[in-house]
Amino acid sequence: MPTRCARAPESLDGRMNTTKPRKPCAYCGGDASTDDHVVPRALYPPSKAKSRIQRITIDACEACNNGWSNDEPHFRNVLLVAGDPNPAVRELWEGKARRSFTYVDGLKRDCFYEYLNWYTGGFQGAFIARQGYYSAQPENARKFLTEAEWDYWYDGKPAATEIKSPFGKVMEKPGAVRDGGSIAQRLGNIAVWNSVMDEDRYLTRRWNEFLTS
Ligand SMILES: [Zn+2]
Repeated sequence: MPTRCARAPESLDGRMNTTKPRKPCAYCGGDASTDDHVVPRALYPPSKAKSRIQRITIDACEACNNGWSNDEPHFRNVLLVAGDPNPAVRELWEGKARRSFTYVDGLKRDCFYEYLNWYTGGFQGAFIARQGYYSAQPENARKFLTEAEWDYWYDGKPAATEIKSPFGKVMEKPGAVRDGGSIAQRLGNIAVWNSVMDEDRYLTRRWNEFLTS
């Protein structure tokens, strides 16, 4: 049950409050100087921003407090598209959420995407292919492999040349075949998660009998 207080203690410009006695930062244990909302401010519709309902805050240092703010709008946008629309959702969607799509992303997320693009770009995939692992983007990894390497590691064909590790050590002689065959053969052995066991229909019938008995 929210409690009411004389004024909202956490308006954004009043967030920095150095005189208030504080506990250490809840995230890192360092010196705290701000109130961090445990339910992020980004999740509240604008019409509620000036409400006098006191929301839960914890003491946090500025770095930790700001550390989340870059991700919160994205978290909120995901929640908005995941749930049923209601007036609060619509208000967030038409205001804060729509505006957030026009902002330039923060440095941390730009770095993340840059790394992700490098990671799936092929070099890394080829590197781990030479250790026997598969890439999430095989076609990109292929660009960084010789034809003989691709045929050996991905297609399960006999090595046309010496097969070398990522560090240049000879792993296999010409003619060798990797364990497990081609990637297609290997994937063909996998039963996927949404398979059901043989007894599924029987158990479902019995469960329904139990519920209706
Ligand atoms: Zn901290």
